[in-house]
Amino acid sequence: MSNITVCVRFRPLSPKEKEADGGAICVQGLDSESFFFKAEKEEELAFCFDKVFYQDAEQADVFRYLAMPVVQDTLNGINGTIVTYGQTGAGKTYSMEGPSISESDGQKKGLLPRVVDNLFEHIKCSEETTKCTVKISMVEIYMEKVRDLFDLSKDNLQIKENRTQGIFLSGVTEVTILDPEEALRCLSRGISNRAVGETQMNMTSSRSHCVYTFLVQQESLKDDWSRTGKLVLVDLAGSEKVEKSGAEGRNLDEAKTINKSLSALGNVINALTTGKVNHIPYRDSKLTRILQDALGGNSRTALLCCCSPSSSNASESLSTIRFGTRTK
Ligand code: ADP
Ligand code: MG
Repeated sequence: MSNITVCVRFRPLSPKEKEADGGAICVQGLDSESFFFKAEKEEELAFCFDKVFYQDAEQADVFRYLAMPVVQDTLNGINGTIVTYGQTGAGKTYSMEGPSISESDGQKKGLLPRVVDNLFEHIKCSEETTKCTVKISMVEIYMEKVRDLFDLSKDNLQIKENRTQGIFLSGVTEVTILDPEEALRCLSRGISNRAVGETQMNMTSSRSHCVYTFLVQQESLKDDWSRTGKLVLVDLAGSEKVEKSGAEGRNLDEAKTINKSLSALGNVINALTTGKVNHIPYRDSKLTRILQDALGGNSRTALLCCCSPSSSNASESLSTIRFGTRTK
């Protein structure tokens, strides 16, 4: 079985899309793994994935299928990565965080708060035999620079590697978390810092990658073992093409940098799945370099390709779906 799971999620039509084209939809679901897709001027295309989530899919379904196995592996000392990909507005952040990170409607909670809950449930179950420490860090990659979202003064973190820690960000703020509430407070702080930084730099969150890292260290209280698992969640920058946003100047540089890192990610995942290349191009971007030891090897990767179901967004959705098929 492959260590890479690729899923597609279609969000509900937005109010604006309901107006556009009379609310026409470009996707027709076949079953929970396949659908027909109708792009402009193209024939109807059939696609198949590990799982397809349609507009009425629950956040809990996405968590159970996509994230739960990765959390389980992390607790077993195996690194993992969960990535949301797609154009701006396609539902990446909604899937990752929920309507907001502190969403009180339990049903709407996104992957992050569910990962936190799940981690601490496991920890609680084994607290008599195992001492467990969870550390969180949160960074943003913008224009190939890595910023610490728990300490905005650290705005150019360097990626390092050594034998004990594997890949790590030198000097990154790691917060030790004792319970789920504290974890959520911490994540909220990172998210609001991100917004502050955006205003300072005059950019929007859709132009940067947000990387959430959970380091889970366990030590047996009875036997002589310890293990560490790293779980990385990535809310990627919007994958939309430049033409659509009419980018120029700095915007164009941003778009090129984003394209470069997204294709680097695609190339790495593709190299891992086809197994045809003996050189995996991790060093082509900061993103893939940071993910290096949580992507590939025996680690588990889950990719959620987020799409609009609207015919008015069909070409962007198709390119997102194609990114997904290329990684399979
Ligand atoms: P992205 O992060 O990809 O730019 P968002 O997650 O911010 O996109 O989603 C854009 C809008 O669509 C938001 O208002 C969000 O609440 C809404 N949305 C996205 N996915 C869903 C969903 N599955 N169910 C309901 N609303 C959604
Ligand atoms: Mg977003």
